Formats: sequence, structure tokens, C-alpha cells
Amino acid sequence: MSQNQKPKLILENGLRTDGRKPDELRPMKMEIGVLKNADGSSIIEVGNTKIIAAVYGPKEIHPRHLALPGRATIRVRYHMMPFSTDERKSPSPSRREIEISKVIREALESSILVEQFPRSSIDVFMEVIQADAGTRLASLMAASLAVVDAGIPVKDIIAAVAVGKADGVIVLDLNEPEDMWGEADLPVAMMPSINQVNLIQMNGNLTPEEFKQAIDLASRGIQTIYNMEKETLKSKYIEFKEES
Ligand code: ADP
Repeated sequence: MSQNQKPKLILENGLRTDGRKPDELRPMKMEIGVLKNADGSSIIEVGNTKIIAAVYGPKEIHPRHLALPGRATIRVRYHMMPFSTDERKSPSPSRREIEISKVIREALESSILVEQFPRSSIDVFMEVIQADAGTRLASLMAASLAVVDAGIPVKDIIAAVAVGKADGVIVLDLNEPEDMWGEADLPVAMMPSINQVNLIQMNGNLTPEEFKQAIDLASRGIQTIYNMEKETLKSKYIEFKEES
């Protein structure tokens, strides 16, 4: 396949290049408490996208002048490992990684009860181990699970998925060719139990009717993912109770 030639995204049988139906999610796996030296951690796989997240804190902030009197400071780093993409990525932070770190920080911050930890810091690190579209959302979810794993109180867990348009069809949970060649890419993150949006971005073009259809599809995907996240947290808690 030439780098510049758009491939067919919806095949004759109506399925996508990876065999999914338009409204089907990629297979997902998630686990919490995967790192012994972090206060909270998680690993998440969405199709071939693989992210590990670690949380440190709440702890006394350094340097001290960054302390906020009424709330915790959230510091976030999203980073792609050099081997995470098909061509080696430079390990130094790119403009894209700096921007995504900011976007994730704002989305994550609105889920955390920051007022409970004045003058402290909560540091969140996400490493993209393997990238195959949707890394900002998988990272945000991994961060949200790691925050909860660290015992930090939140308004709700964040669940997220990208929707978009590929060959004129509204599709759920974009894969890399759809992200690259599709007509629209719309990442959405929410706190489902309080019906609040944490992040919404859009690339490309959708009509108002398609936009509504895409958001409805995203909401359904988000609910499925949210249930998986709750199961992941619950199973760890039950394991913990059984051990003690
Ligand atoms: P997201 O990962 O949140 O979908 P983008 O919309 O910027 O963010 O999509 C970038 C996608 O392009 C990545 O998920 C990855 O699959 C792919 N990609 C390939 N090479 C690179 C690279 N060097 N830097 C960033 N993304 C890359």
C-alpha cells in the first residue's frame, strides 16, 4: 500500500479493514496495580494500542513554589516509546506529546477531587508501548484507573472512545487506517455516572445529523467500556478482600 494512496476502509461486505462491524469496539484488556513502586498503576490494551500508566501522590510538591493553597497540582506526561510506532520515534518529547499531555491533564483533572489535597502534587505518567490509533484516550483511561488504584478520590472513572467517519459510514473506535484516512475523527471521554464530558476533539467534517449519530454511537461504546472498567476495579477489590 502506497503511503499516499487512500485504502478502502469499508469493504464490499460492509465490514471494516480489521473485520469489525461499524458499531463494534476493538477487543480490550485492562489491569490495575501492575507496578510495585508506583502509588497507583494500570495497563490497558485497546486492539493493538497498549499503554502503561503510573501515579505518584498525593505528596508534598517540589519545587515548593508550585504549591496551590486550595488544591492539588496535577502534573501529567504522555510519552511514546521509540519502538511504539512503525518508524522509530525520537524519545524526546514532540510538540504533539506536549499538547496531548495538556489535553489529558485537563480531562483528568476535572475527574479528581483536587480540593482534598491542598499544596500537594499528583504526578501521572503514561507510556505508549504500542501505538495503533486512540492513544490519547487509552492513556486517559489508563491514567484514570491508576488514579483510582492509588486511592485518590474521583467524581467518576473516565471512559473514552473515538468515533468517526470512514468511506461515508459512521464508525466506532477508529483503527489506524481509519484515523489516518477517514473523513472525521472525534475522540470523546466521559464520566458516565454523572453524564459529564471530560474531553471532546474533532478532526475532519461531519454534518450536524452525522455528528449526533456519532455522539450516540460513542455514548453506547463508552457505557460498555465503563462497565469493563468497573469490573476491573471490582475484581481487584474482591481479590484484596479475600487476601486480608
Ligand atoms: P491518537 O493516538 O490519540 O489517535 P492521533 O490522532 O495523533 O492521536 O493519531 C496518531 C496515530 O498515528 C497513533 O495512534 C499511531 O497509531 C500513529 N502514528 C504512527 N507514527 C506515529 C508517530 N511518529 N507519532 C504519533 N503517532 C504515530
